[in-house]
Parts: sequence; C-alpha cells; structure tokens
Amino acid sequence: MVCFCFLVDQKRMVRRCKPVAGSCSRCGRGASVAEMRTSTRFCYIPFYWKSWKAIICSFCGAVLKSYR
Ligand SMILES: [Zn+2]
Repeated sequence: MVCFCFLVDQKRMVRRCKPVAGSCSRCGRGASVAEMRTSTRFCYIPFYWKSWKAIICSFCGAVLKSYR
C-alpha cells in the first residue's frame, strides 16, 4: 500500500482563463477565472480526470476560489 501511494500523483492544468475583477490574497495581483483540469496518474499514465472552474491568480497560481 505504501508503494501504491508513491506511484499515484495528480497533475493540475489550466485549460483556459480570462481576467476577472478581484485580486490575489497572496501577492495582490490580478485574478482570473479559469477552467481547470485535474488528472490523476498511475505510473505517469492518466486514468482519471475531472474538469472544474476556479478563480485563480494568474501570477502565482494560487487558487482563490473553486466552484465545486
Ligand atoms: Zn497571487
């Protein structure tokens, strides 16, 4: 079971984003509304992924709010 944990990882991708009113709580830069995709990989092979929307910072990449 311990080995299994090391073989599974998650990769987060931003599919598209556009600027939105508001600023990042971490760096103070502009926020963007983004369409995200998280893929879960086993031995670097994606076997599950989901799409979700979130408000992210376009500068530091912090997730400020997610719609889920
Ligand atoms: Zn930021």
